Amino acid sequence: MLNFDNRLLRELPGDPDTTNVTRQVRGAVWSRVAPTPVAAPKLLAYSREMVDALGLDETAIASPPMVNALAGNAVLLGSEPFATVYGGHQFGNWAGQLGDGRAIYLGEVIGRDQKRWELQLKGAGPTPYSRRADGRAVLRSSIREFLCSEAMHHLGVPTTRALSLVATGDAVVRDMFYDGNPEHEPGAIVCRVAPSFTRFGHFEIHAARNDVALLNQLIDFTIARDFAEASYPQARIERIGAWFTDIAERTALMVAHWMRVGFVHGVMNTDNMSVLGLTIDYGPYGWIDNFDPGWTPNTTDAHGRRYCFGRQPEIARWNLERLGSALIMVTEEDSAEFQQLADLLNAGLDRFDSVFDAQSRRDYAAKFGFASWRDGGEGGDAALVNEAYQLLRDAEMDMTIFFRRLADATPTDLQTSLQQLNDASYRPELTPEHQERLAAWLNRYFARLIEDDLMCDERRAAMNAVNPKYVLRNYLAQQAIDLATTGDVSMINELLEVLRRPYDEQPETERFFAKRPDWARQKAGCSMLSCSS
Ligand code: AMP
Ligand code: MG
Repeated sequence: MLNFDNRLLRELPGDPDTTNVTRQVRGAVWSRVAPTPVAAPKLLAYSREMVDALGLDETAIASPPMVNALAGNAVLLGSEPFATVYGGHQFGNWAGQLGDGRAIYLGEVIGRDQKRWELQLKGAGPTPYSRRADGRAVLRSSIREFLCSEAMHHLGVPTTRALSLVATGDAVVRDMFYDGNPEHEPGAIVCRVAPSFTRFGHFEIHAARNDVALLNQLIDFTIARDFAEASYPQARIERIGAWFTDIAERTALMVAHWMRVGFVHGVMNTDNMSVLGLTIDYGPYGWIDNFDPGWTPNTTDAHGRRYCFGRQPEIARWNLERLGSALIMVTEEDSAEFQQLADLLNAGLDRFDSVFDAQSRRDYAAKFGFASWRDGGEGGDAALVNEAYQLLRDAEMDMTIFFRRLADATPTDLQTSLQQLNDASYRPELTPEHQERLAAWLNRYFARLIEDDLMCDERRAAMNAVNPKYVLRNYLAQQAIDLATTGDVSMINELLEVLRRPYDEQPETERFFAKRPDWARQKAGCSMLSCSS
């Protein structure tokens, strides 16, 4: 049913040890490991787009042999399960070997249009990289990964995908807030899918161990398989430089998308950064409700706020620097090649800055409905846009609602426009000062719009095409989770459906276009999440 072609296994060295025991794995990229069977697999949800992309149909995905395979209870013909070794910088510090501790690759599948996909089961049991953990995932975090992967795809944000969500029937013990209160929770497995799951950390680990031969081999393989369409120079140093620049560009575009839609990844460690510039590893991520650049949903990061919304571009660049430091290891220190590659890597980092800046300007112009971005100090668009975000923050306005309401605002009915924007605030009422600022801002905004000569409808449609109406608000995900815990998966499927068309008006589900309710402000799962659940 699935057409496997396991190129990574064929072309990169594997670990001769096939026991499933936690260890340091050197001189290899992967280890064979079978998923650990579970008690009672049950398919809770699947993505019909992914089913189709893999060349399956909706009968096949729900068939018992397939559900068993998606739970790790059976191995499909052609599938050769394995896990890979990677390292990473976590919260700014080198953490040594990490690896796929709870993700098991099923292999590579050639899907529709000859497109190659890697499939992984997340939560299918321990691997040699599990360290002291159990290799499992709880239902709540699996629902979050499943829904958000598909929601991001439909928003047009580069991301890994999710094929299926399966309940295991087993309990998993988790201390949700690391406060000495472990509880039994239902377990689940997501089958996630991407053209490649290769991370920055896959390169960092071999560099850290000074295994230059393996580092070179992995670079060549990755360029050949995952960047097959690129036409980089043949000369080695130029080639690596061009490839790094490509990664930098993709990373810049990914983060620009996050800033556009209000997504906070939450754990931007280098082991959670994809070389393809895909959003990967949905853990304690969150969506901006009231606009606050300092907000992070990750409780583990509550003090440092390293991974808060506003710092994501800076952190992405820092992570690229770590990747660059790993790649430079393919040259001899102080050689001419070293200097040449260092210059190219620096140029790649500059490219990150310029691509991010250019994309951000385009995004802001689009979000505010300008025909194009106008530079230039006080009177330029930057001043107007910054002032709006300042106001959003000071007056605690919901970012998603504000931009949809702004698209409807018209100078012919200033009062209604103001009222509509007012309602985006989480405060019962705006202070007189904020009301004044909003009115003054709106007048300047309308004056700016006149310069573009766009028709109202034209502007609204353009704005609504980049400002989503429906995002996976933290409290909505939590409601779906609470229901699923009682055995009712209807809201998972309902959200999946709505989030397929995030930019469209969907009057029948207007209730999902609503500010976070009060009860959700401090509730676990809604604004506070921990790592690795
Ligand atoms: P994360 O913070 O989720 O990106 O995970 C960091 C590292 O911890 C990765 O190597 C994961 O594979 C590993 N890890 C996280 N949760 C588990 C788990 N329940 N069992 C085994 N390994 C895990
Ligand atoms: Mg991770």
